Amino acid sequence: MNKKQKKMLLRILISAVLFFTLKIVVLDDLYETVLFLIAYIVIGYDILIKAVKGILNRQVFDENFLMAVATAGAIALGDYGEGTAVMLFYQIGEWFQSYAVGKSRRNISELMDIRPDYANIEDENGALKKVDPDDIAVGTLIVVKPGEKVPIDGIVIEGNSTLNTSALTGESLPRTAAVGDEIISGCINMTGLLKIKTTKEFGESTVSKILDMVENASSKKSKSENFISRFARYYTPAVCYSALALALIPPLLASLTGNDPMWSDWLYRALSFLVISCPCALVISIPLSFFAGIGGASKAGVLVKGSNYLEALASAKYVVFDKTGTMTEGVFEVSGVHHASIAEEKLLEYAALAESYSTHPISKSIRRAYGKEVDTDRVQNVEEISGHGITANVDGVPVAAGNGKLMEKFHIAYQECSKAGTVVHIAVNGVYAGHILISDKIKPHAEQAIRALKDIGIKKTVMLTGDRRRVGEQVAADLAIDQVYSELLPGDKVTKVEEILTWKQGKENVVFVGDGINDAPVLSRADIGIAMGALGSDAAIEAADIVLMDDDPLKIAKAIRIAKKCIRIVYENIYFAIGVKLLCLMLAAVGIVNMWIAIFADVGVMILAVLNAIRTLRIRKL
Ligand code: ADP
Ligand code: MG
Repeated sequence: MNKKQKKMLLRILISAVLFFTLKIVVLDDLYETVLFLIAYIVIGYDILIKAVKGILNRQVFDENFLMAVATAGAIALGDYGEGTAVMLFYQIGEWFQSYAVGKSRRNISELMDIRPDYANIEDENGALKKVDPDDIAVGTLIVVKPGEKVPIDGIVIEGNSTLNTSALTGESLPRTAAVGDEIISGCINMTGLLKIKTTKEFGESTVSKILDMVENASSKKSKSENFISRFARYYTPAVCYSALALALIPPLLASLTGNDPMWSDWLYRALSFLVISCPCALVISIPLSFFAGIGGASKAGVLVKGSNYLEALASAKYVVFDKTGTMTEGVFEVSGVHHASIAEEKLLEYAALAESYSTHPISKSIRRAYGKEVDTDRVQNVEEISGHGITANVDGVPVAAGNGKLMEKFHIAYQECSKAGTVVHIAVNGVYAGHILISDKIKPHAEQAIRALKDIGIKKTVMLTGDRRRVGEQVAADLAIDQVYSELLPGDKVTKVEEILTWKQGKENVVFVGDGINDAPVLSRADIGIAMGALGSDAAIEAADIVLMDDDPLKIAKAIRIAKKCIRIVYENIYFAIGVKLLCLMLAAVGIVNMWIAIFADVGVMILAVLNAIRTLRIRKL
C-alpha cells in the first residue's frame, strides 16, 4: 500500500464507522443530518473537488461528475444515508482497484527485475570498484561475481560459471558460460567469478532493449482498449442526458395530462441512473487485462510489444516459419567436403576467411569447423548477398561461397550434391573449387510445437526457406508442416507471405516466425512478426512485434494461448459489465432499482471485473 492508499483507507474507515453508527443509533434529526454530512464530506471531498475542476476545465462528463451529481442530488432530496453510502462504496471500489492495479504493476516489475544497478571494474590496484553501467565503454573488462546480474553484453575472457536466465526466458534450466562465450545482460551469474569484455554499451545491451520494450508496450493500445475509451467518451454524456430526460419528461407529461407529476420520484430515478452508469468497471479492467496478459507472457519469456499485438495474436490462424534458426538449431556441422579441386583444408580456409565477417549461422559454423583463428587482414571487399552467400577477396584472390544461385549469378558451373544437407559451393578466382556439405539439427521441441499449434486451432503451418528444396522438404516432412516453399530469396519470402495474407477470411491473422537473420522485412510484413532466439540478435528485437526470449518454438503456441485467454477475459468483462449495467438502467428507469442496489451493482461489477482481469497474470498451466 502506498501513502495515498493508506490515507484513503483511513478516510473509508472513519466514514464507514460514522455511517454504520448513524444507521444503528437513533438520533435527533438535526444531529443525524450534520453527522451524515460530515461522513459524506470526509469520504467524498476529493470527488466533489475533481467534479468542479472538471466543469471549470470544460471536461464535464467523467465519473467524478456522475458521482458528485448523484450523491449531492440524493442529499438535496433528503436521502442523506443513500448519498453517503453511494460515495462510500464508490470510494471503496476505487481503492480496491488502485490497490489491485498497483499490485499487478509491482508483480510485473518484480518479474522483470533484470535492471542491473552497477558494474564492477578493477582499478589499478586490482581492487573492485562499483560504477554506473552507463559509464562503461565498449571493450572494458568488467567482473561479475557469483550472485550478481550481468550488467552489459560481452564475451567471457576468464572464468567458468553457470548462468540463470530465468528472468529473461522463463526457463529455470541454467546455462553454462566458459571463456569465449558470448553472454547477455540480465542473466544472473550463479557459481563462478567471470571476467567479461563488454561488446556493447549499456544502452544497447539486451537488458536495456528489453526494458525499453516492456515500458513502451502500454503505449500501443489494442482495438478493445480504444473501443472502450471511445465508448466512455460518448456513453457518459449520453447517460447524463438520458438522466436529465428521465428527470424532466415523465413528470412534465404527467402534469400535462393532469396526473401527479411525482417530481422527486423521477429525480431519484434519474440519480440512480447516474450511479449505475459509471463506466469504471470497463475503463479499468480492460487495460488491466492486457497489462496483466503482457506481464504474464513476459514471465514466460514471451515479450509482447503492445496490447494490439496480443489482441491480434488471439486470432492467429496461419503460422509461417523460417527454417534456419527457427525450426532448426542454426548450428551446422560440416559433414563433408566434396569435389574439391584444391586441398580440402585449403578449401575450408578460403571459406572460413571469406565468411569471417558474416553473422549468418552458416558462416559461424564454417568458421567453427575451420577451428583456427582467422586473420581478417587477409580478407577484403566482403559482400554478403542475402539468400545467396558471400563474395570476398582472400589474399587478393576473389572467392565466392554460397548456394547454387550464387554460382549461377557468376556463371560458374558447379557440382550438385547428391547427399541431404545444406551445400556451400566455393569458387576461387572464378573457378569452381568444390563444396562443403553441412547439416543442421531440428530443434528438440519443433515437432511438438507444430502439434501444439494444430491443437489450438491453427489452420495451416507453412515453412519458407532459402535453403535447397531437398533440405526444406525433409524438414517439413519430419515436422509435419503442411506446406513448404524452398530456395527463396529474402524478397521472395515477402511475396510468399503476401500471398498467404490473401488466404485470410474475416478476422484471421498470419503470424511469421523468424530468427531475424535475412527475414526482418517478412517479420514486419506479416500481421504479427515473432522473432526467435532474440537473445543476441538485435535485428529481431527491432523488427518483431513479439519476441521469444529463448529459441523454443513451443512458446509460439503458448503465446497464442496467453493471447486467447487475455482476449476471452476482456470480452467476458465487456459483456458482463455492459449487461449488468443495461439491466440495472432499465430497472432504475421504472423505479425497481434504488440507489442502494445501484451502487452495489456498480462496485460489485467493478470488483469482479478487476479480479477477472488479474487472472490473466496466471499463465502457469497454459
Ligand atoms: P533460411 O531461409 O533457411 O533461414 P537464409 O535466407 O538465411 O536461409 O539463406 C538462404 C540460403 O542462402 C542458405 O541456405 C545458403 O545456401 C545461402 N546463404 C545465405 N547466407 C550465406 C552465407 N553467409 N554463406 C553461405 N551461404 C549463405
Ligand atoms: Mg533465417
